[in-house]
Amino acid sequence: MLTMTRRLGFSAAKADWLDHLTSEQNHTLFGETASPEPYGHNYTLDVGVKGEIDPRTGMVINIKILDNLVKERVISVLDRKFLNRAASEFRETPPTVEALTRFIVQKLRDDLPSEITLASIRLEETPLLFSEWQLPEKSEGLEQNKFEKEEEIIVQITHVYEFSAAHRLDSPHLTESENKDVFGKCNNPAGHGHNYVLEVTIAGQIGANGRVIDPVDLDCLVKKEVVDRYDHKHLNEDLEDFSAEIPSAEVITKTIWTRLVNQVPAPARLSRIVLRETARNIFEYRGEEN
Ligand SMILES: [Zn+2]
Repeated sequence: MLTMTRRLGFSAAKADWLDHLTSEQNHTLFGETASPEPYGHNYTLDVGVKGEIDPRTGMVINIKILDNLVKERVISVLDRKFLNRAASEFRETPPTVEALTRFIVQKLRDDLPSEITLASIRLEETPLLFSEWQLPEKSEGLEQNKFEKEEEIIVQITHVYEFSAAHRLDSPHLTESENKDVFGKCNNPAGHGHNYVLEVTIAGQIGANGRVIDPVDLDCLVKKEVVDRYDHKHLNEDLEDFSAEIPSAEVITKTIWTRLVNQVPAPARLSRIVLRETARNIFEYRGEEN
């Protein structure tokens, strides 16, 4: 099997407001962003499909066929539309990026040509907020009409944060010359700094507010546990987190996971931490089981 991903997109408006609710109910549901006034995004949609290479064409699927299907089933329904009224699904559940991801999965998974299977959807609302779905492993090999039921669709939401911090890579288990040899410039006694980009990914079912997790709650949690703690600090000098460990990007990534994993309100769960130390150094952790 081979997976192919095709990038498409659409532009659409939405409002943090449900017409059938009272003003008070809308304010309870959406918090401070509640308003019937629409605002818009340029969405980037990645559709991943998997299948065997067709020996006659050398392709998993002809891109034109996939494009036409996505355009017919998804893009034509959402592009240049007011999403709250674009589909019946969004009258009850607001068209958050998570709800849109679930909608796209539902629209595509049962209608693909028989030789391919929907493997993944990634929908980016802004560079700091995107949602994903992956074909569950248990669905491998099942007929397409035996996919998970609607209520079992698990999507992931990722919020992106930044913090700037200094560190020094220096191991007590190595000699001075070994440290210089292993860590090079990163062993500089005064330390050096990075602008870290942190992706926090939460998995779960979509609630009545269209969210996997309340975005304000997640932002507060990450701010308290990570950003406020690490931002503009020298990780070796200022933090107990790294008093017994070298604050390498690997260790920082795992430490952030440990700080957050038991604080995500169930049934949502932390599913991935990605730490971008530089544009070329990227670290990912999904817990010991993954
Ligand atoms: Zn460094």
